[in-house]
Amino acid sequence: MEEQLRTLAKMQRLDDQIGSLRLLQQTLPQELNELIEHVDAATANLLASEGERAEVGRKQRSLESDIKLHGEQIKKYATQLSEIKTNKEYKALNSEISYLKDKISELESQELVLMDAEAELKKRVEQDKAELEQAEAAKRAREGELRKKIESLEAEIESIRAERNKLAHTLPPNLVKQYGNMIKNKNNCAVVYAVNGACGGCGFVIRPQIHIELQMRSKVNFCESCGRILIERFDDI
Ligand SMILES: [Zn+2]
Repeated sequence: MEEQLRTLAKMQRLDDQIGSLRLLQQTLPQELNELIEHVDAATANLLASEGERAEVGRKQRSLESDIKLHGEQIKKYATQLSEIKTNKEYKALNSEISYLKDKISELESQELVLMDAEAELKKRVEQDKAELEQAEAAKRAREGELRKKIESLEAEIESIRAERNKLAHTLPPNLVKQYGNMIKNKNNCAVVYAVNGACGGCGFVIRPQIHIELQMRSKVNFCESCGRILIERFDDI
């Protein structure tokens, strides 16, 4: 009988391992996704800041070209001034020149604002580039290992399951069936140990008579509360 209890304890240990691997089957792909999403997000950020910077550059060039045009127009009017005969025409032309000078000064202050924006965007592009490089480095460092591990998990689980099934064949079919149902329905936990006089699975206090039976290891006991197979812990399992 003690051998059967040992076998049950070994089977539970293998199912614990399977449980940990199943958890990895959820968390590792998540970790991989996060690495990929981080690179995607950093790429999108960089594209956005580069786009904004290019837009500011276009606006700057358009302002410069307007300033240049207005300046040329002023020069042209200045030449015409010397040829003007009437005071009225002179005034009109001078007022036109003054209007263009005001316009240029307005465009120049717009240009200053854009220069500030461009300096800020230049910094942002640098930051976004650094962030993307970091995200790519993190992905490079971990991706291969993660993919390999994810791919191997199913095979690892299969091999542990085969080992567990081999042990199960040495037990009475009815006990195996009970064990299997509890693995399925009781949070992957069919075998529990007595811990400080209580069930290690649910905390239910073990009656003295049951405690003696557990120590004798002469039958398969079940927790009176959670129904799991209750065993006195083996030192070597
Ligand atoms: Zn219990």
